[in-house]
Amino acid sequence: MSEEEHRTHSAVHVVKGAVQKVLGAKWTASVFVSGRHGRLTVQYDRKPTDDELRRVEQAANAKVSEGAEVLEFEMERKEAEGHFGDAIYDLFPVPAEVTLLRIVRIPDWNINCCNESHVDSTSQIGTVRLGKARFRNSKRELEIEFDLAG
Ligand SMILES: [Zn+2]
Repeated sequence: MSEEEHRTHSAVHVVKGAVQKVLGAKWTASVFVSGRHGRLTVQYDRKPTDDELRRVEQAANAKVSEGAEVLEFEMERKEAEGHFGDAIYDLFPVPAEVTLLRIVRIPDWNINCCNESHVDSTSQIGTVRLGKARFRNSKRELEIEFDLAG
């Protein structure tokens, strides 16, 4: 991953936190990052309104402006599960043989086990511009596209 993609990938965590808070969507089905473009796909039951998407974008950018710390640490899987529950997981499974997890945490915002590289502070991400949101009724999945500006 390029430096730019570390920013975009970190933005996925920020957008994820915003989507969880504004829409209440808990489970991530997949993520995609290329250059300054990102896509987050979450399990959801309907297409959000334009107003809700605006609030997601605003919440994400408020978190960026705040310059929140992006913490990375390792934790025994059992301990992490005891501490954080299933919030650390996405819909794609972590293999059973993995006993040590790398956890990424933006306090009060997002927690996830993740092996990618991240920025140290959300202020390094730049402005998040949400693009298209696509709801796939058959899969009960919501895809949210975004780009980083500036
Ligand atoms: Zn990550």
